[in-house]
Amino acid sequence: MFERRKTRQIFVGKVPVGGDAPITVQSMTITKTADVEGTLQQIYALAAAGCDIVRCTCNEAAAAEGLAQIVPRSPIPIIADIHHQYKMALAAMEAGVHGLRLNPGNIRNPDHIRAVASEARDRQVPIRIGVNGGSLDPALYEKWGGIKPEAMVESAMQELRFFQEVDFDLVKISVKASSVPLMVEAYRQLSEVTDIPLHLGVTEAGPPPAGLLKATAGIATLLLEGIGDTIRYSLTADPVEEARAGRQLLESLGLRERKNIDLIACPSCGRAEIDVIDVAKRAMEAFGDRKIPLQVAVMGCVVNGPGEAREADLGIAAGNKRGHLFVKGRNVAVVPESEMVEQLVEWAEFIHEFGTEAAIARVDTAKAECEAAKDRAALMDEKGEDVNHSAEKIVEIRKTVGH
Ligand code: SF4
Repeated sequence: MFERRKTRQIFVGKVPVGGDAPITVQSMTITKTADVEGTLQQIYALAAAGCDIVRCTCNEAAAAEGLAQIVPRSPIPIIADIHHQYKMALAAMEAGVHGLRLNPGNIRNPDHIRAVASEARDRQVPIRIGVNGGSLDPALYEKWGGIKPEAMVESAMQELRFFQEVDFDLVKISVKASSVPLMVEAYRQLSEVTDIPLHLGVTEAGPPPAGLLKATAGIATLLLEGIGDTIRYSLTADPVEEARAGRQLLESLGLRERKNIDLIACPSCGRAEIDVIDVAKRAMEAFGDRKIPLQVAVMGCVVNGPGEAREADLGIAAGNKRGHLFVKGRNVAVVPESEMVEQLVEWAEFIHEFGTEAAIARVDTAKAECEAAKDRAALMDEKGEDVNHSAEKIVEIRKTVGH
């Protein structure tokens, strides 16, 4: 649907980034890295939620020591986040991390930068040049008259030159800002001048839902332009939410294969026979992080629901105090309203294991269709096709305006 910009490929541990590799999801732990067990627990939760690469801060010797124990036990590659202290980058590499993130805004001594890049070259550890609008090099701030896209791109390119001086090229770049238009423009400019893989993010996006919207606005805009090789949602929330959001964004754009349930639900309206919001929420909770890659629909009424969600693998619509289950638009069962969520999960698991055909074959669809038709007819009788009485209103309106 949209062409992805060609970038070179690097590897973070075993995970490819750039080139034709799938776009990856990143997140960052919020535990103290010295707390090995707590950090690993969070890393496992992140991996289960769809995170491909995780970053941990490396801000003190105890954190680097923690990394030495975390790296061999982590299910996904670990990147050490470095600010101010270049020696922490060296310590993190000694601990065996799969990648580094350096902030050119706060490690500015060329000798220090070259020392880290030389070590990374010898160990073949990739580095992300992580420019951040808020911590831009003061000289560039001055030169460009503020936090400008040009200043952020120049900061990244300056750092890159130091890397090139020591023949180091395992690089990713990010130019994050908390302003969406600013970061979008910075990434656009950057993608014009380099084929290095890009890590996308809106920094300090804030708590959900506003933070989710901001991050999505920035990241999705760029992805749809073919820009971006790896992404991170920076939310003020449990990092598991970041991983879920990243994964969902990529799946919804068709950039990653579906891994979890894609729950679609109607927005509800006057025809709804159930509290759609509550049923959809309970269904979300019941499915949790189960690895069932199906699209499941929750629809408020049987009059329009099954038709509107006929493309879904499985769905349920409410009518006459009963739930009508449908598979690929075909009625397969009519269940009591109180069992809707539980039945939905049971059917999803069955379809995931045995397939759609087997699911349809296990029931008498003619009987289900007959029961469903009865409910639909009862509802039509009770409310009529024109639930909003629009025909009568139109007659009144015409009288009012004198037609
Ligand atoms: S499926 Fe039914 S309840 Fe839901 S929005 Fe459509 S008409 Fe309204």
